[in-house]
Amino acid sequence: MQITERIHQLTLPFKIKLSDTVAIERAVNIFILLGKHVSLVDAGPSGSEKIIFEYLENIGRSPEEIKFLLLTHAHPDHMGAAAAIKEKTKCKVAIHPSEKEWISNIHYQFEQRPVPGFFDLAPLPVQAELLLNDGDILDIDVKLRIKVVHTPGHSPGSVCFLLQQDNALFTGDAIPLKNTPPIFDNWSESLTSMEKIENLPYPKYLLSAWHPLAQENEVQDFISDGIEWLYQIYTAFDKLRSIEKGSIDNIARRLLKELNISEENFNPLFQRTIERML
Ligand SMILES: [Zn+2]
Repeated sequence: MQITERIHQLTLPFKIKLSDTVAIERAVNIFILLGKHVSLVDAGPSGSEKIIFEYLENIGRSPEEIKFLLLTHAHPDHMGAAAAIKEKTKCKVAIHPSEKEWISNIHYQFEQRPVPGFFDLAPLPVQAELLLNDGDILDIDVKLRIKVVHTPGHSPGSVCFLLQQDNALFTGDAIPLKNTPPIFDNWSESLTSMEKIENLPYPKYLLSAWHPLAQENEVQDFISDGIEWLYQIYTAFDKLRSIEKGSIDNIARRLLKELNISEENFNPLFQRTIERML
């Protein structure tokens, strides 16, 4: 789907296998940036390379034109196809330093973040050539000038990308989505990052990995909904913590109920999010 002359969005469906019989259906948005060359914001889960390459050919560009793969963070639904994309295109992979090891050593990432079905989503590691720090400017070419904004919380090295020519902000998973199960590494960092995003001049386009495009007047609501949701989660958690002493499993299950989220969203990753709030 074309968003501006420079930005195209692809929504890639995938499944998170909870067991042999149960799977959660998900989708992730990745973005194709068209300049003199082609850049990607995130790679999508394993197998996405075929869809990306086919899409490029359909719009008259070629996969070999991909020069940069900019990762908002290292989670498997964002980097799963990175190795396959790099192999075909020889593109440079870019990520924040604190998640460099998570993409080069996927077993290490899995140990720390036990995402169900991890290796179906991300079967191969990939090396980063370019490390992205807060405030870095990537002058990719005359049509693409990108500013890096470090927004930890969802993960330690989550970054947003501001494409200055279009005033478009790519937020990955940095902004929590109202009424969906919270997944983050650090609640208070997540809040600080949300405030950082809120204090940027409002972008014209806000492009998240989970949510349909927000533009113009919708941007402010999307950001403030994320902040409100973070507070709602904390308030519910704090109440349960004093009742359900000691058992993280119980707190996590009751929290889902309290937030009106179906219990089938309970999984090791959600439990880990709650553990990290203690
Ligand atoms: Zn993520």
